[in-house]
Amino acid sequence: MGYPFVEIDLEKIAANARLLVDLCKKQDIEVIGVTKVVCADTAIAQAILSGGVKALGDARIQNLRKLREAGIKVPLMLLRIPMPSEVAEVVQIAEYSLVSEYATLERLSQAARQVGRTHKVILMVDMGDWREGVVPQKILPLVEQALLLPGIKVQGFGANFACYGGLIPTEENLGRLIDLTRQARREFSHELPVISGGNSSNVELLLKSAIPPEINQLRLGESILLGRESVNRKPIPGAFQDAFTLHAEVVEVQEKPSVTPGEICRDAFGNLPVLKDRGIRKRAIAAIGRQDVILEGLRPILPGVEILGGSSDHLILDVTDAHQDINVGQELCFFMEYGALAHVMISPYVSRVYKHYNDCCYEAACCK
Ligand SMILES: *Cc1c(COP(=O)(O)O)cnc(C)c1O
Repeated sequence: MGYPFVEIDLEKIAANARLLVDLCKKQDIEVIGVTKVVCADTAIAQAILSGGVKALGDARIQNLRKLREAGIKVPLMLLRIPMPSEVAEVVQIAEYSLVSEYATLERLSQAARQVGRTHKVILMVDMGDWREGVVPQKILPLVEQALLLPGIKVQGFGANFACYGGLIPTEENLGRLIDLTRQARREFSHELPVISGGNSSNVELLLKSAIPPEINQLRLGESILLGRESVNRKPIPGAFQDAFTLHAEVVEVQEKPSVTPGEICRDAFGNLPVLKDRGIRKRAIAAIGRQDVILEGLRPILPGVEILGGSSDHLILDVTDAHQDINVGQELCFFMEYGALAHVMISPYVSRVYKHYNDCCYEAACCK
């Protein structure tokens, strides 16, 4: 296995999933395990399932198809509101989708009837994050129309937080989502059993047992994979933050001045370098770059190693104060933020190494 690679500890991911499923179970909340940041890597999906998650969600239909083709049988949810052009695949592959447009609902209805299926939808209400969903005033007319469509089963309402506008979920805005659901249930005498309250940004409320009781579903990605809630990115007590580590190889170690000796221009990505004069420093280059990862989302594991910057293929590090001697050919390891993790999982240049369950865990957790 060549460098760079990401090492994935499946046992830690399963343990994180188990912790969140248990927390949610106490509050009668179903967990949809979200695989999009790892491009629906099937080993990771299996680890999430082995932690007790009973349904998976992804933003892309290709990823859901990959999960199905790997023999995963649990219900699948399409998280990104469907493209009208993909409805035929959506009703074949996904049990659920999140929807905000009547035109798309009509298409889904038609596609579902064509194959003799019923497709479940959760109608998205935009509580103010201003990504997907209709504004609250528009949800009752939408559900009224949706309930008339054959082949469509309206499961309830959903909302998303902290993705575009940075809106934090609170008891108040979740309460408004619940009020809207109650109103629709009354007005249309319909069960609408699901209220899907959000993503990993809801985990802080979850930890305080402050999610209003009628919220009965959360869609969790980052919190399972990185063991953190996503409002303040605080570690979840008892969860692992180190299920993923990035490993890169050092290809140069040289002493160099810290400032540019001539006139400067913009770098390859259009940024003007701002370098601080710290004298001659010992620097290392690791063979990984912006084509593989968001450099800003990397945190060196070895104390004293500092990221200076990088280009498409090179990561430039100051290793003067590293707590260990750094040499050419040596491995350096990094933790990754959400964006950096997303990037390495997309890059065809970064391999994956799985740390597997020991046999006993494998028997107990995976082979069901
Ligand atoms: C990505 C996504 C999620 C999961 O978000 P995390 O912050 O990773 O938990 C949930 N719902 C929707 C609609 C998403 O697009």
